Amino acid sequence: MKSYRKEVWFQTRHRREFINITPDVEQCLAESGIQEGFILVNAMHITASVFINDNESGLHQDFEVWLEKLAPEKPYSQYRHNGCEDNADAHLKRTIMGREAMVAVTKGKLDFGPWEQIFYGEFDGKRKKRVLVKIIGE
Ligand code: ZN
Repeated sequence: MKSYRKEVWFQTRHRREFINITPDVEQCLAESGIQEGFILVNAMHITASVFINDNESGLHQDFEVWLEKLAPEKPYSQYRHNGCEDNADAHLKRTIMGREAMVAVTKGKLDFGPWEQIFYGEFDGKRKKRVLVKIIGE
């Protein structure tokens, strides 16, 4: 069995944004040389998510509006976590959208359903962030 590990870094420009990281993950898979196995991609920050969904800008705006209804950023004073920080909403949004994605690897490719893409969801950005890519198989 082969094992591959890489931390992939991103510079996020906004407090909240969704980045399609599918090409980065495919690059990792190519580097690994693994043909059959599993790939795990997880955010290494507790205010960011990795999730799989459609690469469609309207849907991404819908996620933003929906998450703001569930856990509005402001007023900051509504959250007990916000003392020296202002990111309680980001922790909650991350929990809703999930920490990681797992994808099967078949014949050296990500074995996706139709329209599936992997996204990094940032909820407290404007700084360098990273995801872990771990691949096991043969
Ligand atoms: Zn915090």
